[in-house]
Amino acid sequence: MVKIPARILVVDDEVDFAEMLSLRLKEVGEIVLSVHNGQDCLKTLEEKDNIDVVILDIKMPGMDGIEVLKEIRKKFPIVEVIMLTGHGSAETAVKGLKLGAYDYLMKPADFTDLAAKLEGARKRSDEHKERIRAAELKLLLRKTGEF
Ligand SMILES: [Mg+2]
Repeated sequence: MVKIPARILVVDDEVDFAEMLSLRLKEVGEIVLSVHNGQDCLKTLEEKDNIDVVILDIKMPGMDGIEVLKEIRKKFPIVEVIMLTGHGSAETAVKGLKLGAYDYLMKPADFTDLAAKLEGARKRSDEHKERIRAAELKLLLRKTGEF
């Protein structure tokens, strides 16, 4: 089966980490963009309306990951978010999950773990989009009087 690439946005203020992660994700066939702060994350989501999953660092200067997550949930409710948290920030992880993040990973993130969570996030995103398409189709058919 041909794998359909996920469109992923990596957000981390540690530039080396973000680039390394992006490279590995590209190697396994994903389409990846990376930015290094919250503002650029929101700007990118605004500009590219086809991002499936955001991998979001929580600890960033300026706008932190939790603030970014809240904005994503408000403005881009279909986008799935996987948080990257540091050790000892279990409370932040819980907070993020309650705010609607799909899942979280402790840094330094294990790639196999991340790949599995990405797969889950992408699946949820696909199913959600499929339900929207089905509802839109129903609406369209009703409008045209065929339903
Ligand atoms: Mg950071």
